Amino acid sequence: MAVQPDVVIIGSGIGGATLAAGLAPSGLDILILEAGERIEDRPENRDQRAIFQRGYFRPQESWFDRRGKAFNPGNYYNVGGNSKFFGAVLTRYRREDFAEIRHREGVSPAWPFGYEELEPWYGKAEALYQVRGTLGEDPTEPPHSMDYAFPPVPDEPPIAEVRARLGALGLHPYSLPLGIDIDRWLAKGKTPWDSHPNSFDGKMDAETAALTVALQYPNTRLETGAKVTRLTTGPDGRGIAAVHYTKNGEPCEVRPRLVVLSAGAVKSAILLLASADDANPTGLANRSDQVGRNFMNHNASAVIGISPGFRNDAIYQKTFGFNDFYLSDGAGGEPLGNVQLLGKVSGRILKGDLPAVPEWLLGIVATHAIDFYAMSEDIPSPNSRVRLDGERIVLEWQRSNWQAHLDLVKKLKAVLRAAGFPLVVSKPFDKRTPSHQCGTVRIGTDPATAPLDPYCRAFDHPNLFVVDASFLPSSAAVNPSLTIAAQALRVADHIATKELRQ
Ligand SMILES: Cc1cc2nc3c(=O)[nH]c(=O)nc-3n(C[C@H](O)[C@H](O)[C@H](O)COP(=O)(O)OP(=O)(O)OC[C@H]3O[C@@H](n4cnc5c(N)ncnc54)[C@H](O)[C@@H]3O)c2cc1C
Repeated sequence: MAVQPDVVIIGSGIGGATLAAGLAPSGLDILILEAGERIEDRPENRDQRAIFQRGYFRPQESWFDRRGKAFNPGNYYNVGGNSKFFGAVLTRYRREDFAEIRHREGVSPAWPFGYEELEPWYGKAEALYQVRGTLGEDPTEPPHSMDYAFPPVPDEPPIAEVRARLGALGLHPYSLPLGIDIDRWLAKGKTPWDSHPNSFDGKMDAETAALTVALQYPNTRLETGAKVTRLTTGPDGRGIAAVHYTKNGEPCEVRPRLVVLSAGAVKSAILLLASADDANPTGLANRSDQVGRNFMNHNASAVIGISPGFRNDAIYQKTFGFNDFYLSDGAGGEPLGNVQLLGKVSGRILKGDLPAVPEWLLGIVATHAIDFYAMSEDIPSPNSRVRLDGERIVLEWQRSNWQAHLDLVKKLKAVLRAAGFPLVVSKPFDKRTPSHQCGTVRIGTDPATAPLDPYCRAFDHPNLFVVDASFLPSSAAVNPSLTIAAQALRVADHIATKELRQ
């Protein structure tokens, strides 16, 4: 048999690529199996009609809802995973998010460790992803032991004007921490980066910021087009003996010492469930029956303020947010969530959602609009889940805390009207946008209630780790990637120093 790698990482998204970057200096022989291919540099990358109207990059995949109705999820399979399309907001959970938080419709659970445990790893993740930001503007900001290495991405003039208007209303807008080299991004084309794929154009995604670092080490290899289909255990039903995958339609298998599953919150849970065997009849790592459960995806809406007197000629727009309703509703009540700018919406983008309206008309509206993203915490529930029905992926997402989200949107609308936008419209994102999927293979301290220990190791399988958005025990109300990346670096260090020390 050929020499087998020490570690196989399944998936090259934020979890897998960041873990690879953290583990590569150890000298361990690392093989990354990635189902997708690299996103090439092609005109469609910046063609908003191709992206938003023709769905050029959307995967040809269907998931099913609880009634058996098929839908096409925006879940991307390529080197770098979903981060190739992300908005590059690389933010930390607030310190409070690691403790239990009472919400209107339930309790967000405490993590098995506090913010201070992850803090140094957040700093390392910010350095790896070259995050641009500024400290001291956001009253909810947790302590940072080091400053950002780069100044924030500057507001464009109309955005600076709106930031000032919100500040005058008593709010606390802060510069979003962003993984974007704006000069490089704009040199390729004058578009926002949010939802636009990146091909080494200045966006710090899992491929450009983390995988590239990992692949500089001769002991790390990437195999693309390698779709993992199953994990099998050894005779004791505990150790993972083999990883099975297909490459160009051909079945392949590899037998590493240690497996890191990083296929994303839906696909990692599905792979564990699909790998059920006699010793593990409900799926791998599933003694707790929690694999696939606790699916969360944030309650999120686009909120667009329109004013005939406001001319928005911003190209990228996405530079500030505010957390004035994050820890409480502003009147001592339960939390509502985070507000941040979206990438600048154009007529070509809006046309994707409103095909009956002429693009030129939507373009005029967009020129007089400012576009926000309101995001509220989704609380874990065992009944909110992803499961397999034969070959079908069934997503039974049960949103929680929806009223808090509606109130956040209502507050944001009132704020925008007070800031000079008389017309404000909103639209929630639904299951077709599982961008912030998480929670399906969570960490915890009790094997009866969580599949993974606090280092993301499966309680049931000593040589299996799950390191992607699956492990998050709560969704908070901030973008997930930096927290996934920080934990990936923490786990990589644990594997290199405690598990497979050379
Ligand atoms: C449009 C958009 C905007 C976003 N904006 C932000 C943002 O601004 N900030 C933020 O923090 N987050 C953002 N997100 C979310 C962020 O991208 C995800 O949270 C993050 O990428 C999740 O990382 P992951 O490692 O869990 O999984 P992914 O990034 O999804 O990576 C999983 C990888 O596994 C591979 N894979 C799947 N199945 C298999 C298999 N069977 N075999 C082999 N490989 C497999 C996939 O191809 C993929 O490469 C955004 C997402 C989208 C879609």
